[in-house]
Amino acid sequence: KPLLRFAPSPTGPLHLGGLRTALFNHAFARKTGGRWILRIEDTDASRTVPHSVEGIQHGLSWAGLDYDFGPGRNGPHGPYFQSERLDLYHHYSRRLLDSGHAYRCFCSPDRLAETRERLARAGLNSTYDKHCLSLSSDDVSRRVRAGEKNVVRLNDSMLPVRPAPESDLIFGNLRDAHASLPTDPVLLKSDLFPTYHLASVVDDHEMGITHVLRGEEWLASFPLHLDLYAALSLTPPKYAHLPLLLNPDGSKMSKRKGDVRVLDYMRRGWEPDAVLNWLALAGWGTHTEPSHQGDQPSKTVKAPDSTTVMNLSEIINNFELDALTHRRTTLDPAKLAFLNKHHLIRMRSTESGLRAQALRALGHIKDAFPDTTFTSMEYIERAILVLQGRLVTLMDLPTAAPYLFVPPAWDDAEARAMLDGISITEYQNVINGTVARLRSTSPWDVQTIINALHAENGAAGVKPARFMTVLRHAMSGVKNGPSIAEIMDILGTQRTIARLEEADN
Ligand code: GLU
Repeated sequence: KPLLRFAPSPTGPLHLGGLRTALFNHAFARKTGGRWILRIEDTDASRTVPHSVEGIQHGLSWAGLDYDFGPGRNGPHGPYFQSERLDLYHHYSRRLLDSGHAYRCFCSPDRLAETRERLARAGLNSTYDKHCLSLSSDDVSRRVRAGEKNVVRLNDSMLPVRPAPESDLIFGNLRDAHASLPTDPVLLKSDLFPTYHLASVVDDHEMGITHVLRGEEWLASFPLHLDLYAALSLTPPKYAHLPLLLNPDGSKMSKRKGDVRVLDYMRRGWEPDAVLNWLALAGWGTHTEPSHQGDQPSKTVKAPDSTTVMNLSEIINNFELDALTHRRTTLDPAKLAFLNKHHLIRMRSTESGLRAQALRALGHIKDAFPDTTFTSMEYIERAILVLQGRLVTLMDLPTAAPYLFVPPAWDDAEARAMLDGISITEYQNVINGTVARLRSTSPWDVQTIINALHAENGAAGVKPARFMTVLRHAMSGVKNGPSIAEIMDILGTQRTIARLEEADN
């Protein structure tokens, strides 16, 4: 059974890119009956930001991505913090030293910098001159015993020549993948912490990871990781790198640009399923896979259409590793708005879904209007249904129709402007007549209210547009909104009459 991992470094808040990686790991694991691990890659203390782990866990649980093993969920592969696994990295580092696949390097930072410059000036591709590779073993032992600072480097001259190009499940065969690797990269730092490369390979192996799904930014390290497996005579897992996410302007999504923090999406009231749906569609694409076996025809992989509305369980159902593309994709905020609206509408089709939305909307309503008394669940449910075309997120409810929760601001500029050319007498006539008629209007439903307003309009002898403007001003104080009859219907007889009378004062 597949075993996957999501391996963030605790260097700050969870970003959309990380959430997308977690989502694809989760989807692949759930689809195939496998499991996934949350592994915290905290081997660089200088970059660790306090509380990042809690933030990552919070983001994952908000999205409904529940890891099987990790912090707080013990399992056979723990501990799940790399800082608690140092012995393992030391063990593998010794193994590489013993077999000659690694060596100790005592070069000072200054010497390293000079060497790099010298090599670059000479137009050479290497980044280190392998100076310490020629130290005698006695020399090395003596310097280690004397406590001299050193790092452990991979000895790339010991690596087997590879016959086949590296193959990634999404990017396919990579040509010249080794060209950009540093020379004899450091595996163990002088503080005895592993570098990312050693820790990642050791853990993926020790934990029994079968598939590594991670961001494209690690594609460049992929050949080095394969080298490490080769040096240790271990079989690597399968790798699938997920393409970079781009902003609509084509720039790379990053901490410095735009909204990348998952927390901001939570706070702004986006539905977790809509955010997941948005991320899932960024990377999924119908495309034709060239056949890997000569005699098999190439197959066209079916991926969901770019506007398909899917909740998490549908994403899992539709998930196909083969359907992921390496094309970089843009995260368009307009698409998220579209998806969110549709997720909300779909959830409302069940009673419990509607009730859950009303409960959450109530929180937003109380934040916006602490003193409102319009808080019954039935009331909020009806408000949601009447306003549904206008709601992108549930947070829009208080701003889309504040007059459903607090009295309108009749005297502010927008409200006053509505009454241009309407005299006070005309206003009062319309209101008084409507109040009298509504007192005897029963039952209280949209159609009966429409009939009553029609009749009253006729009796008042006022142009329908003016009649309705007066009522809209009195009921809502704003030009646009649901029909007057719908607003009255939601508010109910008592509150409608009270509001009309108050407007008239
Ligand atoms: N720790 C790396 C990160 O923060 C994960 C790389 C990997 O998945 O191998 O993105």
